[in-house]
Amino acid sequence: MAEPGTWRRCSVCKEPIALHATYWVCNVSTCNRKRTALAFCSVNCWEVHLPGANHRESWAVEKTAPGVPHSVDTPAPAAPRSREPRRTLARPAAPPARSERSAPPDEILIIASRLKSYVRAKSGGFNTSDKALAPLSDLVRQICDQAIENARRDGRMTVLDRDVPKS
Ligand SMILES: [Zn+2]
Ligand SMILES: [Zn+2]
Repeated sequence: MAEPGTWRRCSVCKEPIALHATYWVCNVSTCNRKRTALAFCSVNCWEVHLPGANHRESWAVEKTAPGVPHSVDTPAPAAPRSREPRRTLARPAAPPARSERSAPPDEILIIASRLKSYVRAKSGGFNTSDKALAPLSDLVRQICDQAIENARRDGRMTVLDRDVPKS
């Protein structure tokens, strides 16, 4: 695409800017973002972009073109980067199952302080042993497993309130 001796083309008139040639850029940062990166062969061409750019304060900055042609594929790294999120989105099915399997089977699922205050209020002052949390967590897990089955039977990947068995 790049002709020999040409660094890149003017963003306005598309005339080639030669290697090592003087060119101009806009002082405004939005005109110099990697994607935009405006380069002008002359101050006249810089002025042409102004009406559309709507800058509050701007001037042309004189630059010297590098000795290497501007590679057209510099925006290319953006392409694989934009593909990455899509790749991670493409596999939401697997990780939930994996994290489910890796969860420690004896993990406490009950908020101790909440449970203890419930027992204290309901009983009129009883304490709760921390050891009660493990079997209670087992019960939550069993109920959860049933809810997962109910959701799966419905073809859903979200456990809803109606999937939780009533008793
Ligand atoms: Zn130009
Ligand atoms: Zn500008």
